[in-house]
Amino acid sequence: MYDNNPTLEGVKTIDEARQGQVLFREQWDHTAVAGGKQFYIESYGCQMNFSDSEIVASILGEAGFTATRNLEDSDLILINTCSIREKAEETVRKRLRVFELMKKQRPGILVGVLGCMAERLKKQFLEEEKLVDLVVGPDAYRDLPNLIGSAEEGGRMVNVLLSREETYADISPVRLESNGITAFISIMRGCDNMCSFCVVPFTRGRERSRDPFSIVAEATALFENGYREVTLLGQNVDSYKWTNPETGERVSFANLLEMTALVHPDLRVRFSTSHPKDMTDEVLHVMARYDNICKYIHLPVQSGNSRILERMNRTYDRPWYEQRIAAIRRILPEAAVSSDIITGFCSETEEEHRDTLSMVEWADFSMSFMFFYSERPGTLAARKYADDVPEEVKKRRLNEVIRLQNAVSLRHNQRDIGRTFRVLIEGNSRKSDRDFCGRNTQNKMVVFPKKEGLKPGEYIWVKVREVSSATLLGEIV
Ligand code: SAM
Ligand code: SF4
Repeated sequence: MYDNNPTLEGVKTIDEARQGQVLFREQWDHTAVAGGKQFYIESYGCQMNFSDSEIVASILGEAGFTATRNLEDSDLILINTCSIREKAEETVRKRLRVFELMKKQRPGILVGVLGCMAERLKKQFLEEEKLVDLVVGPDAYRDLPNLIGSAEEGGRMVNVLLSREETYADISPVRLESNGITAFISIMRGCDNMCSFCVVPFTRGRERSRDPFSIVAEATALFENGYREVTLLGQNVDSYKWTNPETGERVSFANLLEMTALVHPDLRVRFSTSHPKDMTDEVLHVMARYDNICKYIHLPVQSGNSRILERMNRTYDRPWYEQRIAAIRRILPEAAVSSDIITGFCSETEEEHRDTLSMVEWADFSMSFMFFYSERPGTLAARKYADDVPEEVKKRRLNEVIRLQNAVSLRHNQRDIGRTFRVLIEGNSRKSDRDFCGRNTQNKMVVFPKKEGLKPGEYIWVKVREVSSATLLGEIV
């Protein structure tokens, strides 16, 4: 979803490297039974989608399938899709053409579309394009084995029903492409906010929170299996709420965060995404109380201008956002804050765009995911406002934001030179297997030469010597 932005060298956009990643787990290949069915799954979009693919893998594993990395070997090809921007949908369509060719060569195989594009485009996929056998929405994955069974008999199967209850709480996700150290845990699904630019409430349905005990159990099992960091995931984690049906006791996000932190002091806890309208001081105080809750908050501002924020229906204005940043600085002086930003939203003027630039500077974001506005059919903005900022202006503004954010990130990192951080070793660095990499509490990637006897999953102290806008380089002390 995040692949249509002109980026400058060294600038990160959300999960850019992961788009289209084939999720796979080495062990499965060896256990594949002769003659057993194999599935291939390609995923797009945000981390929620990647986590959903792990739920799908678990459901398919129970149904006797094993995962394969090779399209040519698969009996079932699945593509977990994203609708957040137009370009993401185009990419999926291109991949479907490739799968169509595979199907021509091996007519017995099945092709399925999962995720956010399912509801919106089911009719086109099944009736007009006729290249897809299964269309399954994000709340219907339990039905996959049934749907596959019927599709094998020649049917074209669809289930895009959205649920008010489904949280897949009882399904333990199969950790695919995992480093064995860090994992994501979905704590809620859907979204009840109606940001006018956003398609998520339509594709993923109403917000519902997962039973906290199943979340803590998942975190505990991960820790016992050697994992040392969990990220609690939701579109708006601050509005997590669960009521115990037996006792009536309520669990808020602050409570859940504390329950997860108590699993073990060596299990780091992160979370994403926070919404500025809901992020409470109570959450910040819980973060301050536990060393193992990382001092990092992803708090998307989207725009630095109050009129644009109102049109975006974000339900906060610039002073409110500034007041939330001030609370973070007061309660968690060490914390890094990052953001999502959209440029060229409907009717945005140059002056309003400059407010976004000044916000990046003022808020001192450690990094941002940056996008130009892409109108999505059915959203409030598509119905109410003209998409009237020309594409070249949106892109030029985006480039200005990226350039500034890059400079602000570099400055942020330069302040770390000479400081010593506790780092969780995640594995080899991307550039050299003589170096390890891992993150510090502020979610900054730290690269340092290996030392005999150390291995991924261990915590060490690293002194920072050099920085770029994206990475800290240092040595173990
Ligand atoms: N729930 C999170 C929140 O409210 O911040 C983010 C969810 S969305 C999957 C991730 C980001 O995609 C958003 O924060 C926004 O910046 C961007 N985005 C969403 N819809 C967009 C659109 N129509 N055009 C451009 N960017 C969009
Ligand atoms: Fe979309 Fe807004 Fe919900 Fe985030 S909070 S998923 S941007 S509607």
